[in-house]
Amino acid sequence: MTSDFERCPACRTPLTTETVDGLWRPFCPTCKNIVSLSPKLVAATLVGDADGLLLIQRNYGAEKGLWAPPGGYVEQGEMVEEAARREAYEETGIEVTINGLVGLYSEPGRPIVLAAFSAERVGGELHDKSPEVQDVRFFPVNDLPPLAFPRDRVIIEAWVQLQGTLRRS
Ligand SMILES: [Zn+2]
Repeated sequence: MTSDFERCPACRTPLTTETVDGLWRPFCPTCKNIVSLSPKLVAATLVGDADGLLLIQRNYGAEKGLWAPPGGYVEQGEMVEEAARREAYEETGIEVTINGLVGLYSEPGRPIVLAAFSAERVGGELHDKSPEVQDVRFFPVNDLPPLAFPRDRVIIEAWVQLQGTLRRS
């Protein structure tokens, strides 16, 4: 658990935990309040060009060495589309404009909700200078490297469908 939830927000008593409706939650033994945990919002960006889809090779966590679309946490007060654009730029050097929502993704028991956007490359130069990435490349969608998360394949398939829709409109 993050340090945000070590103490009760109302009375500062150290929190214990309770399982409520099958979900693990911080609990204040003084107030008897159950602290509500909101999911964290992650924005991911699917950027295509003539060479395929832009992916980053992760340099951290259990998925180190595996590939995923660029993305990261949305800051409080930040537009979600702006977070998608910012993360793509920070992680790959590619400047994009957002041109569609691929979808909103969540899974039981996972603390994040992922908003996946489709984006168009408008500038920038590909680089791998971010400490969060080992490598960045465009891949043909029919020849993808090992992906970090099973959901990524679902998202990429939805993105491919959306590209067809965007071209027709
Ligand atoms: Zn309390």
